[in-house]
Amino acid sequence: MTISHALINHTTKPTICTTCGTQYPTASQLPELCPICNDDRQYIGDNGQTWMSLAILAKDRTIRFNKLNDQLYDLRISPAFAIGQRAFLILSESGNVLWDCLPYLDEQTVAFIQSKGGLKAIAISHPHYYSLMAEWSRIFDCPVYIHQNDSVWVQHPTPAVDYWEGDRKLLWDGMYLINTGGHFPGSCVLVQPDRLGKNRLFTGDSIYVARDRRAVTFMYSYPNHIPLPKKDIEQIRDRMADVSFDIIYGAFDWMTIAEKGRAVFDTSIQRYLQIFS
Ligand SMILES: [Zn+2]
Ligand SMILES: [Zn+2]
Repeated sequence: MTISHALINHTTKPTICTTCGTQYPTASQLPELCPICNDDRQYIGDNGQTWMSLAILAKDRTIRFNKLNDQLYDLRISPAFAIGQRAFLILSESGNVLWDCLPYLDEQTVAFIQSKGGLKAIAISHPHYYSLMAEWSRIFDCPVYIHQNDSVWVQHPTPAVDYWEGDRKLLWDGMYLINTGGHFPGSCVLVQPDRLGKNRLFTGDSIYVARDRRAVTFMYSYPNHIPLPKKDIEQIRDRMADVSFDIIYGAFDWMTIAEKGRAVFDTSIQRYLQIFS
């Protein structure tokens, strides 16, 4: 078990983009507009570019842990802040993984995760969830796995970022990352085998659970409703071709497909390709 003695930097400097939750380095000058929000896949908030400090967030925010099973918790900021995604604490024998990240961190959260064995790595699906990754990785003294194709989007460079290349990255205990592309060129998903031998799939925005939970979708931009070209849908299909999975965990609260995830995925891909044909 790794115990980190680093203290969270509750800086009063407003370095966190209020719309997407990306934290920028304290020492450097902030950009006029957050590049992640000033992109077709996101948006600048209605009040223009605004920034938030971790010190102000710490006044009334907390991170809620919700136990999904013996090996899994989802985490979200309460009250919600920025995009409002959830992250996942995946407990595993050879080391725990944080899947995706949150734009907040407090001592209570650090203590809880340390009590479960700390983190061996953080793996992030795509730039919309980079959030406070530099601070999380510093506190837990662990690498952050980000696909090389998205390196240009990292706003808070840190030696902890491990840029991986290729279609897959093996982790441990049967877990691995798949670069699906689509939403971002480096978009990825995480596969985790459960104790019964069925795989769980963590998808971020790479494979996006539809509201009725009977389908998934794949888009260039979700907030701006910009579709992906056919070749990207085909790439996602091909990269997932030999992967079996049952439960799908998407980025937001209600985005869990409790069973038959593979069939849902296949039907959804077919629906897209029929439209294109
Ligand atoms: Zn932003
Ligand atoms: Zn996204």
